[in-house]
Amino acid sequence: MPVNSTADSDGVQEAVGDSATLPINECFYSLQGEGTLAGVPSVFVRTSGCNLRCWFCDSYHTSWEPTHGEMTIDKIVTEVESHEEANHVVLTGGEPLIHEQSVELLERLDERGYHTTVETNGTIYRDAPINLASISPKLASSIPTAERDPKGDGEWADRHEDLRVDIDALTGLVDAYDFQLKFVVTGREDLPEIENLLTRIRDAASTTVADSDVLLMPEGTTREQLEDSRNVVSNLAVEYGYRYTPRLHVDLWNDAPGT
Ligand code: SF4
Repeated sequence: MPVNSTADSDGVQEAVGDSATLPINECFYSLQGEGTLAGVPSVFVRTSGCNLRCWFCDSYHTSWEPTHGEMTIDKIVTEVESHEEANHVVLTGGEPLIHEQSVELLERLDERGYHTTVETNGTIYRDAPINLASISPKLASSIPTAERDPKGDGEWADRHEDLRVDIDALTGLVDAYDFQLKFVVTGREDLPEIENLLTRIRDAASTTVADSDVLLMPEGTTREQLEDSRNVVSNLAVEYGYRYTPRLHVDLWNDAPGT
């Protein structure tokens, strides 16, 4: 089972000294569940706070109801180092790149030789030592309409729509880093938008974006939900020539926290 060793019951962490801090929802050691590094043992550092509000967000307590304690960068690095077997770190959220301090954390991890993956929604570019930018642009099917809003009556829908795609940020990330473009797919109706977005990125980027850089991932945060979506999405990957990514952590541990 994954090891979760820093999330207090109330999520509160004390800041120490004047070292920079980050709002941290949880840190844990597990297997990377998604993307080209699925199955690789990794320490996950989950920051809190997001500039979007996908209705299906699988880290609700970093977006819709942000829960966190401030942790110093020193303490986060110490926590990462306590998992001696790990040499991969996944910085995730929420949206970790809304925090300027994420750059310092990535620099500190890079100095120590860690491979870093940043899970990002692709709306913000930052210059940092990132080994894999795992970019997950959000499609129209993510909009928290009144019917789908998990918390209210669709108050976030317009803001989410305005912010969810930023071609300059996407292009910056694709050109600067090794990357994967990972789309949460709710059904066949998402594919025209994915194709259109890829055309816009390919037109703007200097880097080649191959079909094998494009991953389709079924929407769903429980085994039951994936039971319905995984065959549909894997068939779409075959049909369009993109790559399919499982949600290994859901297959293994269902919706248990800290996985
Ligand atoms: S971008 Fe990611 S963290 Fe933010 S609301 Fe969407 S799924 Fe959640």
